[in-house]
Amino acid sequence: MDRFDIVIIGAGPAGCMSALAAYGTPVRGRRPDICLIEASGMIGRKIYSTGNGRCNLANRRLSLQSYMVDGAAPDNRFMALFSERNADWLLETLRSRGFHTHDRDGLVYPVSDQASALAAFFERELARTDIRVMTGVRVTDFGLSEDPDRTGRFTVRTGAGEYGAERLIICCGGMAAPELGGTDDGIRMMAGAGHGIHDPYPALVPLLCDDPRLKIVKGVRCTAGIVLYDGINGLPVCSDTGELQLLQDSLSGIPVFQLSAAAGLLLKNSRKPYVIVDFLPGRDSGFLNDEFELRRRMPDDLTLGAVLLGLVNDKVLRMVLADEGLQPEMKKRRITDDTLKNILNRMKAVRFVIFGSAGFERAQLMAGGVPMKELNEDMSSRIVPGLYAAGELCDVNGLCGGYNLQWAMISGAVAGESAARSLPGDI
Ligand SMILES: Cc1cc2nc3c(=O)[nH]c(=O)nc-3n(C[C@H](O)[C@H](O)[C@H](O)COP(=O)(O)OP(=O)(O)OC[C@H]3O[C@@H](n4cnc5c(N)ncnc54)[C@H](O)[C@@H]3O)c2cc1C
Repeated sequence: MDRFDIVIIGAGPAGCMSALAAYGTPVRGRRPDICLIEASGMIGRKIYSTGNGRCNLANRRLSLQSYMVDGAAPDNRFMALFSERNADWLLETLRSRGFHTHDRDGLVYPVSDQASALAAFFERELARTDIRVMTGVRVTDFGLSEDPDRTGRFTVRTGAGEYGAERLIICCGGMAAPELGGTDDGIRMMAGAGHGIHDPYPALVPLLCDDPRLKIVKGVRCTAGIVLYDGINGLPVCSDTGELQLLQDSLSGIPVFQLSAAAGLLLKNSRKPYVIVDFLPGRDSGFLNDEFELRRRMPDDLTLGAVLLGLVNDKVLRMVLADEGLQPEMKKRRITDDTLKNILNRMKAVRFVIFGSAGFERAQLMAGGVPMKELNEDMSSRIVPGLYAAGELCDVNGLCGGYNLQWAMISGAVAGESAARSLPGDI
């Protein structure tokens, strides 16, 4: 059986950074022997699809709202992880190896705007080392070795044979996007090692609505504000504004993705979530009053579509009117001033009940996973000495905007470096 100082499972951004960081941490003058094992036939497979092919790899703006950790707002211990290893550190690490980036309003992309560049970068950097990279090899499980002096602390089992490892870093990602390699392998392995697992659920995902009004507005993309509510106590949970996409069966787009992890948690806890969509974001009650005064004076023989022109998308207008039992083709004389007021108010508050998420197939991220409270600051397990976890596998889910790749790479680097430093002196 081949024996390595460190075996890393999964060559996504977390595993690649982990391997490079460990390799860059010589212990007593010697570089550790490292093996990186990847199930798919290539390195960083998922990276190619990130950021719509442009790969939003980091975000320079970090706040308590950027991540949800163990199902709640992050605590100081988590934020301390970023005190040294923040976006600037990550970008400088990439730059020092010849990978340049640029940012738009804090969202960082490869300077080429090509996601493939990051995957190719990892491939090149790994090829410059003597790390053993095995692709097309799936780890089935691992166990504690029966003869640690000879084979190292862990035995890693694959279809291609068994490998000994003194330190083991699990970077298998999560269950999102199975067609891009998403799997529950990491969760299974960490559970098998004795870790409690927070139930996984899809995040950064469309939210399903069984609402006949979606037939009217399907295909619309428009700027809107969305507030997510807990349907049991009626309190707002979180909100976002951006380009909303209305689909036949669901709400999608960045602002929906931003709320989707919180909505997933509400669904999990049977809290009957709903959203209120504001199709006139940034317009206050003064604006609505002015518009009311303007439009109520318009001639009675105009259609409602003509009277209410220029405020919202025409399909959205049709939906709002339908809520009042009206159609855009009807004449203004059919409605009272109060109804006109109601229609304008409705444009700022359309309610959709959420009954589910669109599932891991349409999700960009897995929420839940290995509890961060079961890991130390250096990503090592509090349960099994010598075992580490990093990346999406951990119960850390970031907003859209580069936070998840950033987390994967930073946590991977922390785990790799720490695993190398922790190797016994006689390697
Ligand atoms: C369509 C899409 C777009 C996205 N866009 C962005 C974006 O622009 N910005 C952003 O920050 N995030 C984005 N994300 C999320 C981001 O891609 C992930 O958070 C990130 O890739 C997680 O990195 P990871 O290394 O932890 O896991 P992964 O990238 O999933 O890598 C895990 C690797 O482990 C391998 N593996 C799994 N099980 C085994 C096993 N048993 N044996 C061997 N290997 C195994 C897998 O094949 C995989 O290659 C996007 C995700 C998707 C699906």
